[in-house]
This record gives sequence, structure tokens and C-alpha cells, in this order.
Amino acid sequence: MPEESLFIRGKWAPSYGDDVIDVISPSTEEMIATVGTATESEVGEAVRSARIAFDEGPWRHQSLEERAKVIERAADLLEPHVAEIAHLVTSEMGAPISSTKAIVGRAVETMRFLADLASTTRLEELRDLGVSTAILKEPVGVVGAIAPWNGPFGMAVSKIVTPILAGCSVVFKPAPETPLDVRYLVNALQQAGLPDGVVNVVTGGASTGQALVASRGIDKVSFTGSTAAGRMIGSVCGHDLKRVQLELGGKSAAIVLDDADLDAVRSGLAMGCFFNSGQVCAALSRVLAPRSIYREVVAIVEEAAAQWRIGDPFDPETTLGPLVSHKQRAQVEAYIASGKAAGARIVTGGNRPAGLGKGWYVEPTVFADVDNAMQIAREEIFGPVAVVIPYEDEANAVDIANDSDYGLHGAVFTQDLERAKHIALQIRTGTFSVNNFVYNNRAPFGGVKASGIGRDTGREGFESFFELKTVNLAAGMESYFGQ
Ligand code: NAD
Repeated sequence: MPEESLFIRGKWAPSYGDDVIDVISPSTEEMIATVGTATESEVGEAVRSARIAFDEGPWRHQSLEERAKVIERAADLLEPHVAEIAHLVTSEMGAPISSTKAIVGRAVETMRFLADLASTTRLEELRDLGVSTAILKEPVGVVGAIAPWNGPFGMAVSKIVTPILAGCSVVFKPAPETPLDVRYLVNALQQAGLPDGVVNVVTGGASTGQALVASRGIDKVSFTGSTAAGRMIGSVCGHDLKRVQLELGGKSAAIVLDDADLDAVRSGLAMGCFFNSGQVCAALSRVLAPRSIYREVVAIVEEAAAQWRIGDPFDPETTLGPLVSHKQRAQVEAYIASGKAAGARIVTGGNRPAGLGKGWYVEPTVFADVDNAMQIAREEIFGPVAVVIPYEDEANAVDIANDSDYGLHGAVFTQDLERAKHIALQIRTGTFSVNNFVYNNRAPFGGVKASGIGRDTGREGFESFFELKTVNLAAGMESYFGQ
């Protein structure tokens, strides 16, 4: 019997669909749970629940401050359980306990950050535009939110808490690899006073996601995942004229200039290329190095790869865990084979680490002598694989960085901050980092080109869950608005 993984109208229940998902630990390869795949009718029930909560319930009529208080109370309730949630996330997707504790702790802080936005957000503004006008921000409606597996608890916070703070209702679908941790968030929100039906959860894979996106009761889709799935979702939403936010893949370039502080390059690229076993959308997976110091930069990236301690993710000393699934490792290994076949040179890694009998591990891997036209330079590998590409001069580096289908993130390493700014302004990405690798979910995050549409986090992410309404006022009506 699958676990109770559907949350509809304020109650947990199992799915009665025929298909089940075995949740397998990436480090032990043992099954840790079985959850159902929500059927189209179960997805329909979840959407109806969210629709009723939005159309008839009290949540969206409560003040922003009242909604923020519920979120703060939920954060208080989660605080004592951070270690427990981190343990579950490590079991689900294999990231080391050392990092999941920090990540889950940050996700709870993010709830407080979002709640704080309430005090500085105005939902009504009066403007004299020839006609006295009120500009209102109203919640966009019912949100279908779909998440990947690579940062599960933080992703659930971002995908659920942000829209409900705006007054929306949500049907959330976690990735099939990581369907369990969202329970903690949902239970805390309910206990904190969230009305039934405002948050709903359906588990399943692509078919459940497709049913959610296609549902007529959904006003906006908030999707984070692969570019391939994002294109399909975008076209359905285009046809239905649903609002859509797509946070997709990346192949981000780190430009190392000839004056870079190589210690900063080493620490920035250790995180940028290999953190979370490279399963990071913003990973700096293309390193662009000037020919004048190419050998030195390759050696630094090799040192960045050597910093990681790979092994059992529950060992507090471990810093690098396995990949999320057998399928993911097969994909990463196919890319490594493609790099070798194309003539790129393996500097370090490329294999499964010795001495780890179980688990989907891959060594941190560095390819040198890579051409930007090679498959390993163009496609997102989503594993611990960095490629080092030589460039001639600064203009050539900018051209190579921008010569990508993606535009999620980018970085420059230099001691000349004037040059850093010049390069930052020329790179077409949604986020850019100077002398570091930062993912800050208090800032707007998202991509250009095939990396997506819209911004997911920060104030701008929150604001994206409002629709604007313009009210042309009759004389003497001004005092009714502007709260
Ligand atoms: P994926 O696209 O396979 O799946 C993501 C989610 O979408 C899962 O819940 C999946 O079940 C669902 N899904 C798959 N196909 C669907 C469809 N046609 N319709 C509706 N739902 C569908 O991606 P993944 O392998 O889980 O995650 C890795 C990808 O996510 C990488 O490409 C990575 O770059 C991207 N990602 C992007 C960001 C970002 O903010 N830009 C953050 C994290 C991950």
C-alpha cells in the first residue's frame, strides 16, 4: 500500500491510481518509501480543492500581514525539525547531511524573509493620471507548482510559500524522486492556521504534471525543471493563456581573466562546478580560461575537484554524495563518454569512485582542451563535470560565454572590478556573480533564452503572483483606496 502522499482539502490520503513510485535512496539503493502516482481525476480533485479555497475561502481576503503571521508561525514550528527534515532529504536525493542541514535551515529563514516582505508591500496605490486611478494587486488565483528533485525542501518553500503569501491557492507536485519532505512544510502551515484547500499536494511523474498543467482550474503554472519539459508546459500555457513561469536548465560560463586571484577561482569553482554533485541549475559548468594562463587555470580546477570528500552522505565528514538516480548517473556517464570521443582531455575523474560498492556516485571530473561546439560544452550535464575552454582575449571570452542556448547564470574572476562590471553588463544571463558562486534566493532568480521565462524568488518572484487591476475612480472615491 503506498503512503499517504496526496494532500487534498486539508487531509492526507493515498493515491488510488495503479502506478506507484518507489523512492530509492541514492546511496544505499534501497527503497525508503512507495508513493502513488496521482491520476487525472485525483489531480482534478486537488485543483477543485484549491479552486474552492480561492473562490470561496477566507485566505485571499485576509490581510497580507495576517497571511505573513501564519507563515512565521509555520517557520517557528519547523525550526526544531530542521535536522530531521535534512535527514529525510539526504535519504531521498543523496546530498550530504552537512549541506542538507544548512539548506533546510536556510529554507526556513526564507519563509521569514518572505513573511517580512508583507510589511513593505502595498496592494493599493492611488495615481492621478488625468483620471483619479487606483492600481490594485490581486492574487493571480490557483497556482499549479511543479518542482525538480535537486533542492527539494527549499524548492517546496519557494513554490508554495511565495504564492500563498500573495493570497493564491496552490497544487504542488514534487519530483517523483523526492516526494516526502514537503509533508513537513504542509503540516506546519496547516498547524499554523492555513485554511484547508489553500495548499494541496499531488505526487507522480510527468503524467501527473501534465494533468496539472492542462487543468482548466489552474490560473498560473510555476515550473522548475528541464528545458525540454518547460517547452511543453509553455506551449500548453500559451494555448490556454495561463500565466506561466519557467525556471529551466543552464550551462553557465565562468570567465577567468588573466589577473584573477587564483585562490578565489579555486574556491568559487569548487562550489560552482561540483556542489551537490553538480546537480545545480546555476552550476558554472563551463570554465573559460585565457590561453596565457590556461595550464594554471586547468590545474586550479583540478584542485577544486580534489577538495571534495566523496562517500556516505550520512557521514558528517562527507561533502559530496551520489547522483540522485541510476538514470541520472547513466546520463552523466554518457556525457563523459561523449567528451572523450570528441577528443577532450580528462584531467581528473571520469569514473565511479573506488571502494563504494553501493550508490550512484561519479567522481568530480574535469575536461580540458574543450571546444565550445562540443556536446559537453553545449548541453546541461547536471553532474560533477566541468569543462575548461581556452579563449584568446576578453571579447572572445564574452562571445564564447554568450554562445549558448542557455542564459541562467555566469561569473567572472578578476581583481579589476572595472573589468568585472564591463563583463557583467555584456553577458546575457538572469544572474551574474563576481569572484564567487552565489545562489541567493532573496534576489530575483531566473533565466533568459532557453533557461526560462520569469523570476522565481525574492520580491520580484513574490510580486509575480499578483495580477494588476486598474480602477478608474469616480470623483470622491479616493479615500476608499490607497491602503
Ligand atoms: P524534469 O523536467 O524532468 O522534471 C521536473 C518536474 O517536472 C518533475 O516534478 C517532473 O515530474 C515534472 N515533469 C516532467 N515532465 C513534465 C511535463 N511534460 N509536464 C509537467 N510536468 C512534468 O527535471 P528534473 O530532472 O527533475 O530536474 C533537473 C532540471 O531542473 C535541470 O534541467 C535543472 O537545470 C532544472 N532546474 C532549474 C532550476 C532553475 O531555477 N532554473 C532549479 C533547479 C533545477
